[in-house]
Amino acid sequence: MEGEKQLEDCIFCRIALGQIPTKFVYEDENIAAFRDINPRAKVHMLIIPKKHIASLAQAEEEDQSLLGRMCLVARRLAEKEGIANSGYRLICNCGKDSGQEIAHLHFHLLGGQFLGIFAEE
Ligand code: AMP
Ligand code: ZN
Repeated sequence: MEGEKQLEDCIFCRIALGQIPTKFVYEDENIAAFRDINPRAKVHMLIIPKKHIASLAQAEEEDQSLLGRMCLVARRLAEKEGIANSGYRLICNCGKDSGQEIAHLHFHLLGGQFLGIFAEE
């Protein structure tokens, strides 16, 4: 994590640093994943970079492999969770109109049931 920005007041940075006890469903040097505290589907996990990136809008060219790895972690978690064949959705909320609440980049992995249409609310 050397040289990588972490924010003391960012809840997902604090989770990544182990300051908020959270059971990880996946962890490596750069990425962590855990179950959403307020699940919107039978399976609802969040995949985050340990480095603070406020949203996809702040991701840079240098983050390319990190973003790719996050997608592959989603695939691996879907397989582990037994939803790879039934299907799943990967969501990245970015900015006001998306309803992004936590200003630390994260992918929602949703599945385990039929998920309906987009933007239904
Ligand atoms: P978003 O609206 O895309 O920013 O989604 C933020 C998500 O983070 C929501 O689905 C919350 O339920 C979830 N969340 C907030 N705090 C925690 C936490 N401490 N542990 C797990 N999930 C959380
Ligand atoms: Zn953060």
